[in-house]
Amino acid sequence: MRYTERTRRNVASRKKKTGADPDSRPSEGRTVGSEEVLGDDRFDRLFRPQSLSEFVGQEKHRKNLKVYVQAAKRRDEPLDHIILCGPPGLGKTTLAYILAKEMGVSLSTTSGPAVEHKGVLSGVLTRLGRADILFIDEIHRLGAPVEEALYPAIEDFRIDIMTGDGAYSESISVDIKPFTLIGATTRMGLLTKPLHERFGVTIRLDFYPPKDLEKIVLRSAKLLGIECDKDGAAELAKRSRGTPRVANRLLRRVRDFAEIEGNGRIDTSIVKTTCERLEVDDGGLDEMDRRLLGIIIEHYDGGPVGVETLAAALAEPRDTIEDVYEPYLLQQGFLGRTPRGRVANKKAYEHLRIDPDEGVKQRSLF
Ligand code: ADP
Repeated sequence: MRYTERTRRNVASRKKKTGADPDSRPSEGRTVGSEEVLGDDRFDRLFRPQSLSEFVGQEKHRKNLKVYVQAAKRRDEPLDHIILCGPPGLGKTTLAYILAKEMGVSLSTTSGPAVEHKGVLSGVLTRLGRADILFIDEIHRLGAPVEEALYPAIEDFRIDIMTGDGAYSESISVDIKPFTLIGATTRMGLLTKPLHERFGVTIRLDFYPPKDLEKIVLRSAKLLGIECDKDGAAELAKRSRGTPRVANRLLRRVRDFAEIEGNGRIDTSIVKTTCERLEVDDGGLDEMDRRLLGIIIEHYDGGPVGVETLAAALAEPRDTIEDVYEPYLLQQGFLGRTPRGRVANKKAYEHLRIDPDEGVKQRSLF
């Protein structure tokens, strides 16, 4: 595979260009944050399943993808273009790597903001070999001119290149090798219709149920070489916000506590101790989640509150609120979304142990 170096450079440039540098965020160091932070990369590679059979959960999608791979291989064709959608940390990048491996082709990775202009796109596309996979993370963030230049590439495997200068410039059409585009997005709603329509396969990844996360934790513990019992894995899974990346990161912290303050093994007790120390409660919510819900309840009487107001109150970019915090809180029913803003649901009051009539009673959640 020839992706390694290029991938690393692109991830670094993505962080620079998207402002996804955790150092500049109040959410810095957030153990249960689902977005990739520096330091995750090494472990992401260690934990990354290598085949569809090793990929845990998402059964329906996994089975369908197996069929698409087999069919494409039998016909000796590239895979159809695929769009992967879902909150950060659910396995979109992992699936792109796996599909390249299963197809026996090379993978090139980049991201929407990194493809700054049509020239960059042409460079990426012309370097692809037959049936290779191009993975564009955050594809909804491609600029309009780049997105339009991508259309003929996806549809007819050709790109339009400008030659000459000024009045003498002309556009010529150049063939490229048939390839597969895998796009990933955390925000399907921001994908333009013409782009979405050009993907043959749409996969929406869901948050993982605790049973699947438990399997992921046991597998990752094995890769780290640390003993982990089933109950410990289940406790950790419960606090991982339905997200494999969070489960793996929490596991690394639990391992630290197990080795330094425990008996070197992961069990329920050390998971609970670690989570208490990290202020991750038994619903997997951390200080930022509780602040978000607390602001809505205590300052805005339960809402509705506009997302911009929440972003200002939490000193977080609006995108982070919408991409990272909200999806899990919405899916779990802590938060509701109305046309006038976000509202805290009954479950949020119960979780924070706040009586809607009497206000804050007691806040100890551990
Ligand atoms: P995304 O691209 O959606 O942000 P990644 O593919 O980078 O997420 O996954 C984050 C981490 O979680 C990686 O370490 C990956 O190996 C692990 N992971 C994700 N999905 C699964 C899965 N279904 N089974 C096992 N590990 C997974």
